Amino acid sequence: MGPVPASCRSWVEISRSQIAQNFGDVRSAVGPGIEVMGVVKADAYGHGAIEISRVLAAAGAKWLAVSSVEEGVTLRRAGIETRILVMAGVMPYEREALVDFRLTPAIHSLEDIAALDALPEPIGFHLKIDSGMGRLGTRATAAEIVDALSGLRRARLEGLMTHFASAADYTSPQTIRQVAYFDSICSGLRDAGIAPTWLHLSSTNAIAYARRDAWRGIVRPGHALYGYVSPARGKAPHAVLKVRPALTWKARIVSIKDIPEGAPVGYGASFHAQRAMRIAVLAAGYADGIPHRLSNRGKVIAGGRFAPIVGTVSMDLTTIDVTQSPDLQPGDEVTLLGREGNVSLDAQEIARTAGTISYNVLCGIGTRVKRVYI
Ligand SMILES: *Cc1c(COP(=O)(O)O)cnc(C)c1O
Repeated sequence: MGPVPASCRSWVEISRSQIAQNFGDVRSAVGPGIEVMGVVKADAYGHGAIEISRVLAAAGAKWLAVSSVEEGVTLRRAGIETRILVMAGVMPYEREALVDFRLTPAIHSLEDIAALDALPEPIGFHLKIDSGMGRLGTRATAAEIVDALSGLRRARLEGLMTHFASAADYTSPQTIRQVAYFDSICSGLRDAGIAPTWLHLSSTNAIAYARRDAWRGIVRPGHALYGYVSPARGKAPHAVLKVRPALTWKARIVSIKDIPEGAPVGYGASFHAQRAMRIAVLAAGYADGIPHRLSNRGKVIAGGRFAPIVGTVSMDLTTIDVTQSPDLQPGDEVTLLGREGNVSLDAQEIARTAGTISYNVLCGIGTRVKRVYI
């Protein structure tokens, strides 16, 4: 089980072997010859970027992806030696650090190519095409891109990438159109003799729902490595991944009390006990990442069964109804996300109740929640 965090009010336990297994599952789904770039941005979706990067590197990952230069530098300083792609843009004042820390930028405009070429050292980059996501990426034509690439002295185009907006949505032709647009840019470049080594388009959903024509040389899963695949819309093929969540989130009970029928609970008195009940106060609140929207509608697992959240979630505390679990004591652990016996609660279910997405729940787990690796 690893170190027992007796001193923690709230903590997460992350299974290294489950992360490695999820990585292996993606690898075997896409088959040999396709690299799996582990996306470890946003502190590996709350799982801890350094530790997860070590696990992925040990499992054979040649590439990792982060959002920012700062995230890339953190990994290099921790001794991570894989290639690292910086996906969410490089500020002008960060360009030198790309060279110093051997980071590979995704470039989103033709002007940025010229700026990279002006750096004192050679640098490889990936150019991102906006094929319809409408966020980052160039909308330049193939001819304009060819023009921007001609005469580069030190910067070198290593990869061409794009990102899908709706890969799990089989009611929409958007992904098919995005692939076609990306291919038209690729063939325009090829006609001019430009064939970058790496082509990549697919994150978790395009992998899980087997959009094989979008796999190319590298795939870029994040969510899947942490054990999640978004539900599909429309007539989707069966998901080809069998990934499982690697993270369990716990909190301790600070206090237990019996309250009489009619007693209000919490800020705003949004809950009144309909009967005499036993309340447990948990040592975690919205500052730890429990969505405030779970007030009066969420649940946790206490004593092996679901216990409803009653009243509003506070900054540091959350109140639950434990009338059904009379044996619970202050100091006992409850499960905010995870499994006890055959009762389980994952980030997708929590997100549905809170009106958000599973990514948001995982990334929202607060920095004061200790990460324990098992
Ligand atoms: C976050 C991100 C990914 C990973 O997406 P998942 O849905 O978590 O697999 C891949 N590519 C880009 C550009 C991203 O921003």
